[in-house]
Amino acid sequence: MQLEFLPQMLKSTPSSGEGIQILPKEIKPLQKGYKYELYPNKEQKEYLEKIFGSCRRVYNDLLAMQIEKHKEAVANGTKPTFPSLQNLSAILTSLKAANQWLYEVPSVALQQAARRLEVAYKNFFRGLKVPKAKRKHRFPKFKSKRGFQSFTLTTNAFSIKDGYLYIAKCPTPIKVNWSRELPSAPTSLTINKSPSGRYTVSFVCVAPPRVTSGKKIVGIDVGLKSLITTSDGEKYDNPRWLKTSLNKLRRLQKALRRKQKDSHNYHKARLALAKLHEHISNQRHDWQHKITRKLVDESQAICIEDLRSSFMFHNRRLARTAADSGLASLLHKLQYKAIEATGCNIITAYMHYPSSHICSNTGLKLDRKLELKERAWECPYCSEIHDRDVNAALNLRNYGYNILLTTGLLNTKFFGVILGKASELEKEIL
Ligand SMILES: [Zn+2]
Repeated sequence: MQLEFLPQMLKSTPSSGEGIQILPKEIKPLQKGYKYELYPNKEQKEYLEKIFGSCRRVYNDLLAMQIEKHKEAVANGTKPTFPSLQNLSAILTSLKAANQWLYEVPSVALQQAARRLEVAYKNFFRGLKVPKAKRKHRFPKFKSKRGFQSFTLTTNAFSIKDGYLYIAKCPTPIKVNWSRELPSAPTSLTINKSPSGRYTVSFVCVAPPRVTSGKKIVGIDVGLKSLITTSDGEKYDNPRWLKTSLNKLRRLQKALRRKQKDSHNYHKARLALAKLHEHISNQRHDWQHKITRKLVDESQAICIEDLRSSFMFHNRRLARTAADSGLASLLHKLQYKAIEATGCNIITAYMHYPSSHICSNTGLKLDRKLELKERAWECPYCSEIHDRDVNAALNLRNYGYNILLTTGLLNTKFFGVILGKASELEKEIL
């Protein structure tokens, strides 16, 4: 698993000292999505359905044409051309002329559908430059009537008045559940419909930078027994209710497999499964947001190991369990929250830093390898029984503290991400 940082951070030149890389933080306003539940009435649902359908149609038609063009080019021995947005927009105009009903929906939504295709193509072609195993984007797929539906509008096609959402060409305003305040006037919105039939609207707004004033330095050990363990001795595992839901999910999946395809009961079971999937995803994200928010707000620095060296991601079976447990998305949330906040920073230990094999009291390294099943061990140096995960988290905290001291960044703000490296002295000890 790769650590994902915001792109602007990677572009900045790292300053170095003692083999430590610092990727400075740029403090600038953030574009963020604010999501709300939407309650359209029957007519409004029909209208939204029309927009979803039109966008899907435009996207699929444009994609089909591009594929056809590509095939022709290959057959003629000419170089296939990459569709530009102007190109796609021109085709869109002719599509609209041929299908008058496309005029019944906001034209911005259709332009945005063309734009999405352009982005999908760009991502795919950009991905061709990296090795196959590392590619994130596949060739654009045709959009299906089932599954997630969405469309995007820019400011000229919507407005908010008296707590209601007005959409171009929709005669009545739509009810929104304003669960929190918008920080500023939105620049665009995306309306989604989930497979279970739930409507949400996501506004893109400029959010003020978040200032946190936590003083703590926290080390975090990542594992499967507990998802994360902090140097304060707190262990966070998938909560019990999530496990209960996961068991229920397995039952529903089995039930669906027994139903005859396309029968009435099949679709009923499919909807029930979609609803549960959504419920679990909501529960998980909610829980992850809460604990990562707490950690970021309380800390000036969070020290984690370089996960490329983590045993979990080198063992195929464990890697899958790690993915199932949502570990990656938990760490992603932790990182982006820390990078967004002006008071919290991330320190990554150098690759293969032996956090589990050092005594956190004495700093001495254990002369044998710990088995995976050894959850606790008696220390030959200080005779304490070390809890494996808490000890590793404490070592990461100590490591981070030392780095802050040597770089003079202790109790300062705004530094960003530090990528630690083993100093010559440490190499000698290890
Ligand atoms: Zn010890």
